[in-house]
Amino acid sequence: MSRGGSSSGDAPSITIAIDGPAGAGKSTVAKALASRLGIAYLDTGAMYRAATLAATRRGVDLDHADAVAAVVDDAQMEFWPDRVVIDGSDVTAEIRSREVTDAVSTVAAHSAVRRRLVDRQREWVRDHRGGVLEGRDIATVVLPDATLKVFVTATARVRAERRVSQSGGDVDEIEAAIAERDRRDSARADSPLTETAAYHVIDTSEMSAEQVVAALLDLL
Ligand code: C5P
Repeated sequence: MSRGGSSSGDAPSITIAIDGPAGAGKSTVAKALASRLGIAYLDTGAMYRAATLAATRRGVDLDHADAVAAVVDDAQMEFWPDRVVIDGSDVTAEIRSREVTDAVSTVAAHSAVRRRLVDRQREWVRDHRGGVLEGRDIATVVLPDATLKVFVTATARVRAERRVSQSGGDVDEIEAAIAERDRRDSARADSPLTETAAYHVIDTSEMSAEQVVAALLDLL
């Protein structure tokens, strides 16, 4: 029996792309939205972080695109909703370390690495029949036909202050690190972070996470 005009009998799949700069609150909002809609959630940043950590652990030069890509092919990387595992060890906390955070933009600039991770992301969407994906290039590259494309942003100062309230640190130093990572993610040749006309832009500087989720549900 067809449903909603579909003759396949499958429930229609919803794909939601949430892109934006570092620390804009994408994860909080993407997770809450996925849970409200009862669909899966994928943090694609965790995949670039895991690739960075796996390559570092194997002593690979992070500037060497092919060598890092070979690690992505070879390492056993698993992405669970609340856990990341590399070669059997839980690296959920370690991929958030300062060392990985400072190095990840270098790895993410390599096309050979991106190709492999984008393939896995699309495969994940097929396996889960949709979902909420957060990252930098979800709407522009990974899922150009996403049901909803949102660019979540906030001033660099607000983003740094949120980081400090979560995990401490010096706000000026964190703001500078965030700005530098954004600069590198926006300047790279392959799949740069860029706010295009296809996005609904949400500046969360003066919004709570609940308000952002409500605004996104309104857009669906
Ligand atoms: O989202 P998060 O800050 O954890 O992402 C870490 C890094 O991974 C980003 O700074 C960026 O270099 C890279 N990234 C990317 N494309 C994505 C997601 C993350 O290049 N879709």
